[in-house]
Amino acid sequence: MSKELKNLDKDYVLNTYSKNYINFKKGINATLFDEEGKDYIDFTSGIGVVSVGHGNKQVADAIYKQVSNITHISNIYAIEPQAKLAEQISKLSGFNVATFFANSGAEANEGAIKIARKYGEKNFEKKRFKVITLEHSFHGRTITTVKATGQDKFHAPFFAPYPDGFSYDNTIDDIYNSIDDETVAVMIELVQGEGGVQPFDKKDIQELAKFLKENKILLIVDEVQTGIYRTGEFLASNLYGIEPDIITLAKGLAGGVPIGAVVTKHKNILEPGDHGSTFGGNYLSTTAGLEVVKILEDYKVSGKLDEAIIYFEQKLNDIYEKYPNLFLQSVGLGLMRGLRVKDEQTLASIVSKAFENGVLVLKAGKNTLRLLPVLTISKEEIDEGFKRLEDALKQIS
Ligand SMILES: *Cc1c(COP(=O)(O)O)cnc(C)c1O
Repeated sequence: MSKELKNLDKDYVLNTYSKNYINFKKGINATLFDEEGKDYIDFTSGIGVVSVGHGNKQVADAIYKQVSNITHISNIYAIEPQAKLAEQISKLSGFNVATFFANSGAEANEGAIKIARKYGEKNFEKKRFKVITLEHSFHGRTITTVKATGQDKFHAPFFAPYPDGFSYDNTIDDIYNSIDDETVAVMIELVQGEGGVQPFDKKDIQELAKFLKENKILLIVDEVQTGIYRTGEFLASNLYGIEPDIITLAKGLAGGVPIGAVVTKHKNILEPGDHGSTFGGNYLSTTAGLEVVKILEDYKVSGKLDEAIIYFEQKLNDIYEKYPNLFLQSVGLGLMRGLRVKDEQTLASIVSKAFENGVLVLKAGKNTLRLLPVLTISKEEIDEGFKRLEDALKQIS
């Protein structure tokens, strides 16, 4: 632990995270090294961001080659890697869609909400503007997306007033009754990430999608966490067999370079002047995104991604079955996984013991141990990570 870093951080960085004072110096795929050279297996990938691993040479080379020529010009000029990444998103999703690039998940969701509001103005006699989301959802930290997030703990009174037009339902079924003549969109995650790695039922989602389509209400799927092969397909929407009106992406799309994307089949709602971003879609982020998507498409096509998913799942289920005194349920899809832990305190001690034993894991919601490994994680890294996790569990139970 670096004393110097700790002091710097405490003195100069705003105190918005309770954090571990560790100074990571090097990363290779799913393995990180601190300043003493101690290694950690990373089952977090920076909360689902570093999709193709730390220090990915292919991505680094592509970025270097691009930024040593041009890093940035504004969106008043066409940007080749941006156009190509948008093309790839359409191709790989199988949807006839166009994309707006932003810089984060929250910003992508803001864009989605703006599209929905304009759609609500244009397509109905009386303007529709309300967006229904779900309890335990997470959609971001801006004033609007935090309001869209269905968790009271994020709606602190000191940030009020919040924008109008958001309400939360407990279940997919409840949505049908909440829709009124001002509802323009339903925004959901297919697997709630921050809310506890909770996947929804495929049939329920398909029925909802069909109903919304018949009623001209937009379905916005927040794939900021589930997108870009996290659940085993390019999009979780592909896995669920639905074609949403708007999809948002961010975390895994550029392997750690900030990016967000609003993807929609409604290509003509926004016009010049309606929306914009200084940095969104620049050469740096979209070059990284293009390379990430290329690597992961190969990974999927070659069968390696599915192999990793099956192997990881098997190891996870082994510890789940071995420690019934700690775990209540195994949840999640693909490489977005969770174990429900019997109580909050046990979860906190698993996370800290895991850290001591050299494996990084996450929490989600109140009682879910969350694992979001690098998608290119090797078999050896999976073995070593679970061995260390089990060492931690032994010390607890
Ligand atoms: C992380 C996340 C966000 C917010 O993304 P930021 O890049 O932090 O703004 C939004 N929605 C979901 C589902 C997320 O997991």
